[in-house]
Amino acid sequence: MNRNQVLPQVELSADPKALSRIDFCAPQSYQGSGFLEISALPRLTEEASSIEPGDGFHWELKTHFADSPGSEPRQILKLAVKGRIHLVCQSCLQDCGLDLAQESRFVMVATEDEADAFPMEDDQQEPLVASQHFDLLGLIEDEILLSMPLIPKHPEGACQPHASSFSEGGEASDTPEKPQNPFNILKNMKKN
Ligand SMILES: [Zn+2]
Repeated sequence: MNRNQVLPQVELSADPKALSRIDFCAPQSYQGSGFLEISALPRLTEEASSIEPGDGFHWELKTHFADSPGSEPRQILKLAVKGRIHLVCQSCLQDCGLDLAQESRFVMVATEDEADAFPMEDDQQEPLVASQHFDLLGLIEDEILLSMPLIPKHPEGACQPHASSFSEGGEASDTPEKPQNPFNILKNMKKN
């Protein structure tokens, strides 16, 4: 018999505090979605170079039970995160808005030993040790951190903070903190 048809499916609260204590030992599955502001996630707040209106991450989670040979059916957790954060561009050291997305699949196991014994070659799903007060908020934050590039950068050619100043305006209004525009360097060389 399919366990999913008999077990209740619980709707998760979108409240960050509630998300930090979820009972993954209870015989029930979960689904839910919500939006988390950067300020609700301490490690992201630390990474962010600035927080602009609209920055933050949507998350969507759904779990179900799957039969597993030789043990109790295991809870499978599918988690998707998608959103926007501002990080320091490693090329121009200016704020850089990045749209990020990540989708992962996890399997709930009962103990650390079971997680350690989990086949390493299974890169489709990662084991998580279930608990009665599982920090789902922390897992969502982990996923967002994993989706961030190692070296955040503007898209190629987008580093100039004011792209419109590329058009020939005659008078260059370069401020000292702006990186030197290579075209201006060329212009100056021609003048000399
Ligand atoms: Zn840049």
